[in-house]
Amino acid sequence: MKWATWGSGSAKLLAVLSTAAMMFAAPPVAAKNDVGCSERSGVLGVSRVLEVDTTTGPRFGNMQYKDIDFLKPGEVVLTFDDGPLRPKTTSVLNALEAHCTKATFFMVGRMALVDPSMVKEIDRRGHTVATHSWSHKMQGRLSKKRAEKEFELGVSAVSLALGKPVAPFFRFPYLSDPRTMQAHLKQRAHGNFSIDIDSLDFRTRSGTTMVNRVLRGLKSQGKGILLFHDIQRSTASGVRKLLDELARRGYKVVHLVPKHPATTLKKYDDMALKEAARRKKVASSRPLASRSIVWPVSNADYYPAAQPLKIYPRGLFRGPLPERSGLVRSKAEESLRGSHHNVVPDAAKPEKPEAPALKPSKKTARASKKKRVSTQKAVKGPPAPAQQPDALKGPYEADWVNEAFKN
Ligand SMILES: [Zn+2]
Repeated sequence: MKWATWGSGSAKLLAVLSTAAMMFAAPPVAAKNDVGCSERSGVLGVSRVLEVDTTTGPRFGNMQYKDIDFLKPGEVVLTFDDGPLRPKTTSVLNALEAHCTKATFFMVGRMALVDPSMVKEIDRRGHTVATHSWSHKMQGRLSKKRAEKEFELGVSAVSLALGKPVAPFFRFPYLSDPRTMQAHLKQRAHGNFSIDIDSLDFRTRSGTTMVNRVLRGLKSQGKGILLFHDIQRSTASGVRKLLDELARRGYKVVHLVPKHPATTLKKYDDMALKEAARRKKVASSRPLASRSIVWPVSNADYYPAAQPLKIYPRGLFRGPLPERSGLVRSKAEESLRGSHHNVVPDAAKPEKPEAPALKPSKKTARASKKKRVSTQKAVKGPPAPAQQPDALKGPYEADWVNEAFKN
């Protein structure tokens, strides 16, 4: 993807233009968002903004790397992975805004393509948009070629959804960081962001449990990069309380921003465009069916504990995720996937429900039946579940449906 405004040759001109624009245009959105923050007491705010130069592919996060210790005692970096997922991401954004503070969102490419306006909204509110692969596969289990595709297509897809370059910040799904991919990140001038403290928000539905876990971690470590998932219920419900507590206990938030934008590769930009077009087409026939809110869990025990557990609220999303997301595999990928069955069995076979599904209302049942029929025509595999995830219900649902595929 070529981003003319980021070219070094046009930097001078851009600077002049932006100065002129700032003189005559309305105040920038970020400034508008900050109105009222200076008068508010007891809010976190941002204690410092750290511009990260990723040219040499630096690695952060003590859970895996001891390379760089950039935080002072009492400082935290807020990071949210796996989204966006509008209803829960919106709760997170509102909590951050209430505290006039900023975070970094490590987005999954295919999630970003489903809801590009949400990606733009996160950026509009002044947060950092970073990437977390195309479809959240464990890279340590992939061939070099597939792992590179996961990374590159993720960067291209989130950039496409955002409409401009993302930050060259990457977090490996499940923190699975094969050496070849670490080298690839370095070569592509991306920072590799591991974590210090894991909220383990995927292990609980309780916001309070999640908050207590993070506060305990901070008490013992004193500072750190905090990991949350803005697709998890406990984070959506608990994040406001956590920020209140961080402020009360005197913690300071550091906001990470990139020195240079990420670049993308044309081959993967084309692929991302194709995926976006395919999603629009699929979405028009089954707007709520193409989103996944959980990732398959691996039985690998040598990775750090940052693996979202498989949680099926009310027996949802039991089908094989990639097919339902509209991703079409090549034959080579299919054969690789075969070997995956031993490693990630949950990804491939339908599961028995862990909890009985709630009995749908007559209206829901009728709508679901209709949807099942159209879904069966469109994709192979088991029919879509009768129940929609409760994550997609609530005040934002209509908004999400209207907005998600507009652009
Ligand atoms: Zn993740």
